[in-house]
Amino acid sequence: MIIAIDGYSSCGKSTIARDLAMHLHYVYIDTGAMYRAVTYFCLQNSIIKQGVIDEQKLKSSIDSIHIEFKLNSQAVQETFLNNVCVEKEIRGLEVSEHVSMVSKLAFVRHTLVQAQREYGVSGNIVMDGRDIGTVVFPHADYKFFITASVQVRAQRRYDELIAKGEDVDFNAIVENIVSRDLHDTSRKESPLIQAPDAIVLDTSLMNKKEQLEWILNHIKIK
Ligand code: C5P
Repeated sequence: MIIAIDGYSSCGKSTIARDLAMHLHYVYIDTGAMYRAVTYFCLQNSIIKQGVIDEQKLKSSIDSIHIEFKLNSQAVQETFLNNVCVEKEIRGLEVSEHVSMVSKLAFVRHTLVQAQREYGVSGNIVMDGRDIGTVVFPHADYKFFITASVQVRAQRRYDELIAKGEDVDFNAIVENIVSRDLHDTSRKESPLIQAPDAIVLDTSLMNKKEQLEWILNHIKIK
């Protein structure tokens, strides 16, 4: 069984997907973390410099980028880039501000989509991203499209980063969310669009428990 969860930036997709996977005892795959890890690699290896990406350099290095997900001692999934945990680094604003220039590249998408499909071979996964129900698994058993108001999304992201001890500016987060939505919906390669057969969930006025119950109810009904 494959459950695809797509939607806008910071609308709670990952939280819903993770909770759902835990509830169903499925594997959870955060595809945004994969694009973020590639972006972090680019920043670390001067492939992105002063806001400009060297596409040729990334193309020649793409096979040396290995991304894995591992559970830590508290059973929380963490992202590893070439055997190093980069979970904290990939969530910061620097990666968020550069990820769109990486995720729009066709060869990056091709490489990551292939890896994402391989996760689906053994079945029973919940995968979240922007193109899961449209490109990665167009025949997914369930497709959900998550949305929420920009203000609510920015506030959640702000609270999350503050809780992690980061020094962040609320307006910079709003700008980043609006800009990433624009890039994701207008890019040529696999733009963010709602799959025609996806069920829409607006989480603006829902807490985490209500969101999980809503999705579980839809799965039961279907
Ligand atoms: O989900 P998250 O906000 O962590 O994703 C980071 C970025 O990765 C998005 O802004 C988007 O550009 C890109 N992305 C994508 N396709 C996916 C998942 C994420 O283009 N399936």
